[in-house]
Amino acid sequence: MASIGNSESYVKIPKIKFTKLFINGEFVDAISGKTFDTIDPRTAEVTTQIAAADQEDVDLAVKAAREAFDHGKWPRMSGFERGKIMMKFADLIEENKEELAALDAIDAGKLYSLGKVFDMPETANTFRYFAGAADKIHGETLKMSRELQAYTLREPIGVVGLIIPWNFPSIMFGCKVAPALAAGCTIVFKPAEQTPLSALFFAHLSKLAGFPDGVLNVVTGFGSTAGAAISSHMDIDKISFTGSTAVGGLVMQAAAKSNLKSVSLELGGKSPLLIFDDADVDKAVELALKGILFNKGEVCVAGSRVYVQEGIYDKFVMKAAEKAKTWVVGDPFDPRTRQGPQADKKQFEKILSYIEIGKKEGATLLTGGKSCGEKGYYIEPTIFTDVKEEMTIVRDEIFGPVMCLMKFKTVEEAIRRANSSKYGLASGIVTNDLNIANTVSRSLRAGIVWINCYLAFDRDCPYGGYKMSGFGRENSLHSLEEYLQIKAVVTPIFNSPW
Ligand code: NAD
Repeated sequence: MASIGNSESYVKIPKIKFTKLFINGEFVDAISGKTFDTIDPRTAEVTTQIAAADQEDVDLAVKAAREAFDHGKWPRMSGFERGKIMMKFADLIEENKEELAALDAIDAGKLYSLGKVFDMPETANTFRYFAGAADKIHGETLKMSRELQAYTLREPIGVVGLIIPWNFPSIMFGCKVAPALAAGCTIVFKPAEQTPLSALFFAHLSKLAGFPDGVLNVVTGFGSTAGAAISSHMDIDKISFTGSTAVGGLVMQAAAKSNLKSVSLELGGKSPLLIFDDADVDKAVELALKGILFNKGEVCVAGSRVYVQEGIYDKFVMKAAEKAKTWVVGDPFDPRTRQGPQADKKQFEKILSYIEIGKKEGATLLTGGKSCGEKGYYIEPTIFTDVKEEMTIVRDEIFGPVMCLMKFKTVEEAIRRANSSKYGLASGIVTNDLNIANTVSRSLRAGIVWINCYLAFDRDCPYGGYKMSGFGRENSLHSLEEYLQIKAVVTPIFNSPW
């Protein structure tokens, strides 16, 4: 365990500059004047107060976005011009990467050093990627079977509501906002109540980049108020939601009961990693630990169910235990740290309660199982063995540094057990046998299959859910489609009877 709560010795923590709602290009208080505390998971102390949006604030944000969409420049300017402003925004993100990384560290417990070299450059590059796509949104010319000619236009869907959770506040901002902007949509964005700071900083940068007022609005606040107001709003045309499966269901209901707005959902997961007998055990252990411990297990695609074939199982268990003990948990600003604090108290307590359930239901704790540090929300890397499929810790998404390690005999058994989850977000296979890799990857019901790698993301590679992990795709040009709709324009030709 590295030092905990010693951040100022590694980096100067920035002062918080933005705490209000960002509506129509201005930072404003909530109409009610209400605020909420944002808590630092390193210490469990209050960082600052943030404006708490209600229905009436969301109404104002939607009005601004509506005006910017219906009468403003953004959807009407050329894709090339939109792309130029997005490129400028990307440069500003990169120029401010230290400050942004520090905000995510004190809001979500994310690793500062990784934020600087990965989360922020990645977010900037997502804007660059979609900026490049903004002037390449073309329709088709159709050769019809009758005396008609037609072409299609791919038009922005309108005002979009974007709601995200707290585990990747910056990367997810990019994944949702960049394709929506490239498409020509205008936005009401709600970060999670646990992690509002970087989104407000992005709002400030959007003004500097030159986005017209009303194109990007950021409303901070709670799910049951601000979030519900977005999903049930009559003047929002589409909602893209990332979060839990339970809330995804509520969002879909609200969309259906209001104006039938289009919905895409990126939801929970309980992803299997299958390690076959021919795998290099040291490499497989490293991959499996990264798969569950990266971002303290607060990853929707975390490899939380690890199935190891019987020939290497005992060796794998021994090496995984050794390696987990060397995993450095500590201050997210300490460059030695591999695992910072869990994002908030609720999540911290939820993970510890699942560990208790695992023990009660008869699983064996191989490593970890406790909180650590004198303050803040730190939890030891935890591995359970003797785990049975029907146990709660195998069925439920824990969203923390807790691995369920299980043994299997045959390829068929591995496929059956991997697929025996209500979720279908991600999966992984470790083998050098091409037949196994091909058979298993085609048999797994999941939106992504990683072979001999895990958490290997790229902005050009789509990901999203099968089954109760949701629908719609994030990243790649497939995600641009989520924010476009198709209009057919038809005219008669020659002596058409039409
Ligand atoms: P959550 O569903 O509680 O909250 C997510 C967001 O929804 C927050 O902004 C919250 O304020 C808002 N919200 C809550 N109630 C709402 C309502 N009634 N109407 C509208 N919005 C509402 O999820 P969480 O606990 O913050 O995040 C963890 C979950 O997110 C996990 O299940 C995880 O798997 C999932 N997740 C999925 C992906 C993915 O890409 N599939 C990525 C990251 C996280």
